[in-house]
Amino acid sequence: MTAYDLTTDQRTILNSLQAFLKNKVAPGAAERDRTSEFPADLARELGDMGVMGAQTPEEYGGSGLDTATFALIIEEIAAYDGSLCLTVASHNSLCQGHILVAGTEAQKRKFLPDLASARVFGAWGLTEPESGSDSGGLKTRAVQNPDGSWVLNGSKNFITQGSVGGTYVVLARTDAPRAGRSKTDGISAFVFNRSEVQGFSVGRKEDKLGLRSSDTAQLIFSDMTLPAEALLGTRGQAFRDVMRVLDGGRIGIASMGLGLGRAAFEYAARYSASREQFGRPIAANEGVAFRLADMDVELEAARLLIRKAADLKDAGADFALAAARAKLYATEVGVRACDEAIQFLGGYGYIREYPVERFWRDNRLTRIGEGTSEVQRMVISRAVLAKYSEALTPT
Ligand SMILES: Cc1cc2nc3c(=O)[nH]c(=O)nc-3n(C[C@H](O)[C@H](O)[C@H](O)COP(=O)(O)OP(=O)(O)OC[C@H]3O[C@@H](n4cnc5c(N)ncnc54)[C@H](O)[C@@H]3O)c2cc1C
Repeated sequence: MTAYDLTTDQRTILNSLQAFLKNKVAPGAAERDRTSEFPADLARELGDMGVMGAQTPEEYGGSGLDTATFALIIEEIAAYDGSLCLTVASHNSLCQGHILVAGTEAQKRKFLPDLASARVFGAWGLTEPESGSDSGGLKTRAVQNPDGSWVLNGSKNFITQGSVGGTYVVLARTDAPRAGRSKTDGISAFVFNRSEVQGFSVGRKEDKLGLRSSDTAQLIFSDMTLPAEALLGTRGQAFRDVMRVLDGGRIGIASMGLGLGRAAFEYAARYSASREQFGRPIAANEGVAFRLADMDVELEAARLLIRKAADLKDAGADFALAAARAKLYATEVGVRACDEAIQFLGGYGYIREYPVERFWRDNRLTRIGEGTSEVQRMVISRAVLAKYSEALTPT
């Protein structure tokens, strides 16, 4: 057995997941894309299967799976329904991920069991109207009262599970940056159940290009009061945790980009073998067949980059650079595979009756969310330049 073969456990998990995806998720995916209806029941069923707390330890009600297995799960769900995939990815990696990285024992016991079972959906709010890639520029303020409680004012944009969530992790500025520190200093995280607070409301629900049955909404905090124990991690130091959470999340979004690209590739390959023009299958033309070969290699290379990032994370090693590489490459080649698939199908690729246009619309987000491709290039180029910055000495 090589490191790349599926373990018996992974095979068992994927077999039951595939049966669920084929029988229950795939049949309604196109219709949900039309109606934008959030599939709460399907997400809850995934909760019963252990997928909604995939990496949360068993002691908090989760499945305690490693990152490599989580990546396989995300790739598989994406291949059937991108919207459901984003729900699973963000619920696990962002909301639960942050509680796992920074939560106290009491916070883990309070929030994780309901999230891991999907009795409650989790949301994670970093982005604001004026701060996206430059997330350290957030404007939401949290001020502490003499009794230790906090009052938050501000808003969050584009938050997945924003309107259907029950548990929220949000970032706010509590302190000015200390002298000599960057503007990310002084930012804190908070975790709360929506049912337990006043001053929280949901703003606009977004009408999106793709991922239409995933819930994306604005959050508004108007003198929202939180108890002292809502502080998640060290006051003013949440940005380190944010980066760790996003590094993990990027492995999930990379897997989502791969899964959607794979679905488009498989559809295009089948189509090109059966569609005849000029008296033979279009795949009999090298111009088509060689492109299939390139897509196959690109998707496999993406899978290996994801695997490396996942293995480094599971080994407790620094995986930030590996996650950025995986996210950049897997989402770029995944989206390209979707675009190519539309081209393979010609006019039919542009018609809603065929799934490849939905795969492209859904996948387009993966180059944007959890750090755009440009942000990944910033991370990677910084690492490259740090390594090769010494002056060249002529030989
Ligand atoms: C469907 C959806 C779901 C989302 N879910 C969540 C969520 O759950 N939680 C959350 O907090 N956020 C979420 N987001 C927000 C997402 O993470 C941001 O949209 C993303 O980080 C980009 O921020 P922005 O949209 O403000 O774009 P901007 O940061 O304004 O960027 C605009 C463009 O400029 C480029 N750019 C910016 N700075 C540079 C630079 N220095 N060099 C080169 N290029 C640059 C960007 O790459 C991009 O192409 C979601 C967004 C969407 C659309």
